[in-house]
Amino acid sequence: MSGLQTQDRGSAVGDGLPVVTRERGQRQVFCGLAGIVWLHRKIQDAFFLVIGSRTCAHLLQSAAGVMIFAEPRFATAILHERDLAGLADCNAELDRVVAEVLERRPDIGTLFLVGSCPSEVIKLDLAKAAERLAAVYQGRVRILDYSASGLETTFTQGEDACLKALVPELPQLPSGDRSLLVLGTLPDVVEDQFARLFAELGIGPVHFLPPRRTTAFPPLGSGTKVLLAQPFLGETARACEARGAELLSAPYPFGIEGTLGWLRAATEAWGVTGEVLDAVTAPAIARAQRGLAHHRESLEGKRISFLPDSQLEIPLARFLQRECGMDLVEVGTPFLDRRLMAEEMGLLPEGVRLTEGQDLERQLDRLREDRPDLTVCGLGLANPLESEGLRTKWSIELVFTPVHGFDQAADLAELFARPLRRAALLRV
Ligand code: SF4
Repeated sequence: MSGLQTQDRGSAVGDGLPVVTRERGQRQVFCGLAGIVWLHRKIQDAFFLVIGSRTCAHLLQSAAGVMIFAEPRFATAILHERDLAGLADCNAELDRVVAEVLERRPDIGTLFLVGSCPSEVIKLDLAKAAERLAAVYQGRVRILDYSASGLETTFTQGEDACLKALVPELPQLPSGDRSLLVLGTLPDVVEDQFARLFAELGIGPVHFLPPRRTTAFPPLGSGTKVLLAQPFLGETARACEARGAELLSAPYPFGIEGTLGWLRAATEAWGVTGEVLDAVTAPAIARAQRGLAHHRESLEGKRISFLPDSQLEIPLARFLQRECGMDLVEVGTPFLDRRLMAEEMGLLPEGVRLTEGQDLERQLDRLREDRPDLTVCGLGLANPLESEGLRTKWSIELVFTPVHGFDQAADLAELFARPLRRAALLRV
């Protein structure tokens, strides 16, 4: 399949920012349903009811069922082919399935109706269905909808769509109050570490979205400063801004440099001095430096390519190049939101090959020519590339492994060092 290729800098030539090559063509990436894998673990009283096809059910069962071991709080209501006249039956069927789920699971606080891409689902107005069901279950369970269709979302955009659906539900922050809102799913252990650091820095109150339970929604208003923990939440950030919140510009909290820069953005907004920041973070930074030293030995000088997949590529490339000494061969990202990536773009090395979007065949040709030591890609491409003798890392692991913050910096480096060590052992 032929693709399109264009280049731009996004700002004035000579500004030192990397040139971005845009590609359009065939792409290989999960749809937004994948987000349910980590969202259902984080929001403990949420249930995700996917209105979809057998393909959607299969994706969830194989992705979620194989990779996680938790009480599932998701299901797929499979919609068979109907004509428009049959849609009334679909709505009745949906009401019946929702009633059944809620009867069996009285602990559910929020039920998400998740749209997918089969044409029968597109014909169904899920927003109206959510409104109708919300009225029926008012006071007992919140019913929301969002689309994770492969036509509208890729992989991590499913989380963005889910969190955006939560924004109108957040209570109003009283005028004159201020608070920090951290956006993006973080494992509880990482959330607790950040909460402790913010408390030691004298920053607060601090809230996290998504919350662990939907009975404890964070407030939102003009006194809210938003700090993104994940780079793929542009729509949610914009929805928060529409309610008066201010988005803090920061790198993402991967590695020592990213985490320090991320915390610095909050300290500056709160008027906390650099000396306090240095004093509070020094012990964690020393621990992270010790942990990283070991993995740096395996990673230094190794060549890495990222295929566009999770939208985590740019911050991870920055970490691997600046803190682990890796050489960036190509950094592909499915979308580039220049505002959200402003701090990260300036930290990439000059001349790095940065691509936005995908033209799969063309990208694979480049990869085969480059033959990097490690390629970060989706599950679907990993096995074929391994069979060609290329070492790979699954990008989905980076989304549901604790990798944020100082204390996880060494674990993050290890995720990339492990396949290289394994390859070296196999060669021996
Ligand atoms: Fe496939 Fe679309 Fe279902 Fe995703 S939402 S699994 S792309 S049919």
